[in-house]
Amino acid sequence: MAGQPPALSFNTTFDAATGHPVTVAPGLVRITAPNAGPYTFKGTNSFIVGHDRVAVIDPGPDDDAHLMALTSTIAGRPVEAIILTHTHIDHSALVPKLKAATGAPVWSGGKHRLSRPRRLFEVNAVGGESDWGLVPDRVLQDGEHVAIDGITLEVIATPGHCANHLALGIAGTPWLLTGDHIMGWNSTLVSVPDGSMADYLHSLEKVIGLGYGHYAPAHGGSIEDGPDYARALLAHRQERNRQVVAAVNGGARKIRDLLAPIYPQLALPLHGAALMTLKAHVEYLVDRGLIGATYGPFGTTLFPSRA
Ligand SMILES: [Zn+2]
Repeated sequence: MAGQPPALSFNTTFDAATGHPVTVAPGLVRITAPNAGPYTFKGTNSFIVGHDRVAVIDPGPDDDAHLMALTSTIAGRPVEAIILTHTHIDHSALVPKLKAATGAPVWSGGKHRLSRPRRLFEVNAVGGESDWGLVPDRVLQDGEHVAIDGITLEVIATPGHCANHLALGIAGTPWLLTGDHIMGWNSTLVSVPDGSMADYLHSLEKVIGLGYGHYAPAHGGSIEDGPDYARALLAHRQERNRQVVAAVNGGARKIRDLLAPIYPQLALPLHGAALMTLKAHVEYLVDRGLIGATYGPFGTTLFPSRA
């Protein structure tokens, strides 16, 4: 076994240079959209990959200034594809306009879908943020390689944040485009049934095992030592799992009862996101028999494992 995982620390110092192209690496340019917010940090990062011919990864929100910034950076070069890391609307809403402007086909990990069927009475908290109507021209498969003007993108299925999430490796370089799967400014939102904690943890392990050292996420700045940071995220989630088991064994019976012991300092506006993440941890632990739960119209009731 390796030693202690690195401590988790977030990097919230990011000069987004919103609307301006920033060269991250040869053939990799980032343009941040003007949609800063509590879930999007400084805004969605769109990437333009290639030289004489390009692909656009994550066009971002439906915003005319961002469309102008993308098309002026593309500067008439043929666009081979519009690629989506996933189909949340802060990544995909600009697709129809960019497709009309460039004629490029849309490639993604498939139509938006849930990580598991919705339970009776269950609300999908991020259903309104998901692009249910987007049908890709091509469904990218895990492990496939696509060539864009001499640059080869490796498609890596990374479900967890949502079911159709992809990371894209730039083969032969240290760079991995991690979408919302791994971001440096915060841990990602995992909201069931849109996402899945089990899938997310598995996708973290998967990415750690690849050869990519630098991560370029869809929100916030680049992560220099990607695998170390991903190991810290994984350890953070495993610690959360232990805290949830301890809280349930200590008498917590509702998911909201977990907030005070696990997030004692949390500001009120962040309670919604914390509850979503706790629900995902609860489901993970119930599926493994580490705690028990019943699901009803008035929410989930928790109890210690009878095993
Ligand atoms: Zn997302």
